Order: sequence, then structure tokens, then C-alpha cells
Amino acid sequence: MANSRFEYVKSFEQPDVLLPNTWIVVRIDGRGFHKLSDHYAFVKPNDRRALDLMNAAAVEVMKELPDLCIGYGVSDEFSFVFHPSCQLFERRNGKLVTTIVSTFTAHYIFKWSEFFPSTPLQPPYLPSFDGRAVIYPNSRILRDYMSWRQVDCHINNLYNTTFWTMVQQGGMSNTDAEQELKGTVSGDKNEILFKRFGINYNNEEEIYKKGSVVYRKFELEEPTPIQTSVDEVSPLTEQKQSRSQQDKIKKLRRKAQVVVDHVDIIKDEFWERRPWIISGNPGRLPA
Ligand code: ATP
Ligand code: ATP
Ligand code: MG
Ligand code: MG
Repeated sequence: MANSRFEYVKSFEQPDVLLPNTWIVVRIDGRGFHKLSDHYAFVKPNDRRALDLMNAAAVEVMKELPDLCIGYGVSDEFSFVFHPSCQLFERRNGKLVTTIVSTFTAHYIFKWSEFFPSTPLQPPYLPSFDGRAVIYPNSRILRDYMSWRQVDCHINNLYNTTFWTMVQQGGMSNTDAEQELKGTVSGDKNEILFKRFGINYNNEEEIYKKGSVVYRKFELEEPTPIQTSVDEVSPLTEQKQSRSQQDKIKKLRRKAQVVVDHVDIIKDEFWERRPWIISGNPGRLPA
């Protein structure tokens, strides 16, 4: 390293290491996607190509970062979850968030033409994302975080589906539809859809109702209740993992296929049948 009298400036950099042994969630969100979706004429309320593109970029992020155990996406946002045992970048906040954001954005832009072959990207409407890291102290709260996002997906989608049906099929103006939906509960919206338009919300596509979950696929296991919080082991125990054990785990994670599902992640079943997500221990690779 070259010594210079300017080197002292390095000491201005502040540490930003995230608390050890906690779940790290990096949530990214598209910047100004309302405008961007107008410009590229996304289908309202749900443009399938745009969602598939988000998911394709998320799969690439999962492949590049074996420390990630699960991701969840809806609309222009994606949450990526690092396991408590993650030691990537010594758990430095800035490094983790910027790596996720830039890796995701790079793949999103690279794959754009695959999903929008006749609509090339054009400045100033270039997709970009912001990102933040939040830590959660145990798997119960991590699951509540995931549930929060999936409930948000449901509430927004029911609203948007009803709103756009009233506009597109009912010929209402945006303001009239908005006015009528003010103060309505889920039941009211279901009824508007069914009685006026013959639409049963339950029959809408799962990807719109449930969002998208991405994870590594191992053989599904018989549901057994997750008794002790396997993620809450002492960090001392974790450090006992030898280098070779860690390498083996990493290898298995890389071998596993990253899949995209549109399923309930609020109930226990999803997590009980895929214990590797919470435990961090890879399961059996499908034959
Ligand atoms: P900000 O920069 O604050 O995030 P934003 O315009 O991106 O602003 P969001 O609250 O993130 O606002 O909302 C994203 C918007 O992008 C949605 O409201 C919707 O209009 C649009 N959008 C995102 N994905 C899709 C999609 N798959 N189909 C149709 N519209 C979409
Ligand atoms: P910013 O990006 O400026 O920090 P934000 O955190 O509200 O604002 P998002 O990350 O896009 O922006 O928000 C994620 C979700 O949080 C959105 O669905 C929004 O509806 C919801 N939200 C925002 N504020 C609150 C709040 N105080 N309590 C609960 N949910 C909130
Ligand atoms: Mg956005
Ligand atoms: Mg958003």
C-alpha cells in the first residue's frame, strides 16, 4: 500500500456492521415505477411481463449470493433475506445493500429485452432501485416481516383489481372509482367484483394474489412443527463450524435450483415443509 499524507482520510469511514446472529432483510424498491410503468405501458393493474422480469432478476441475485435463504417480491419491490449465520462482507450494511441493489438492477436491465422485446429501454426512463437493510432478532419476527409483505400484496391487489375493473370494464373515471372505493372493506370489493362484473377474486392468478417467493429447492419434508428456534443457536456454536463444513454447505446451496413459487408464506406449512430456509442447513437435493 502506497503511503501518502492523504491516507488519513480513510479513517473518516464509519463502521456500519449489522448486529451479529440476526436475520438481515434487504428490501429494494423500484424508483418512480409509477411513471416508468406508464412510459412502457405496463398492463394495469398487473403486467405479467414486469413481474416475471422482477422474478428473473431475483433468481439471479439468489444464485450469485449463496448466503441468501429466501426472497419475496411484489410489484416493484423485493425483499432478500440473509441467514443469521451470514458473514458476507463481515455483515457490513452498505456493502450488503449496494451489492444486492446493483446486482438486481444489472440483471433487470440485462433481461429487459427478453421480457419486453418490442419496447427498448430509453433514458430518462431507466430502471433503478433503492434499498435498505433491516435486522430481525429471531425467525418468528422474520416470518412476521414476510407475512406483512404478503398481506400488503393481497390488500393492494384486491384494491387495484377492483379499481381497474371499475375503470376498464365499468367505464368509470379514475376519480369516480376511487371515490366509490373510499372506506370499503375487503368484503365490499369482493362483492363489487362478483355482483357487477361476475369476477370471483379467488380465481385471479396466484402470482397477483400471493406475490412471488424465491428459494433454493431441496426435497420437501413431512411437516413437523418447528419446535425450538433453530436460528437462535449461540454464535459460539456457529463459529465451531469448520471451514470445510462451511464450504460443503455453500456448495450444496449453489447446487440447489432456485425456484419461484406463488404460495402462502403466512401459514406454518410453507416453512415446516422447507426447514432448510430457517435452519440454514441444506436439505436433500432432489434426485
Ligand atoms: P417510489 O420511487 O417512491 O418507490 P413508485 O412510483 O415506484 O415511487 P411505488 O409505491 O413503489 O411507487 O409503486 C410502484 C408502482 O409501480 C405501482 O403503483 C404501479 O403503478 C407500478 N407497477 C409496478 N409493478 C407493476 C406491474 N407489474 N404492473 C403494473 N404496474 C406496476
Ligand atoms: P421510504 O422509502 O421513503 O422510507 P417507506 O418505507 O414508506 O418510505 P416503502 O419501503 O416503499 O416506503 O414502504 C414499504 C411498505 O410500507 C409500503 O407498502 C407502505 O404502504 C408501508 N408503510 C409505509 N409506512 C408505514 C407505516 N408507518 N406503518 C406500516 N406500513 C407502512
Ligand atoms: Mg417504487
Ligand atoms: Mg413499491
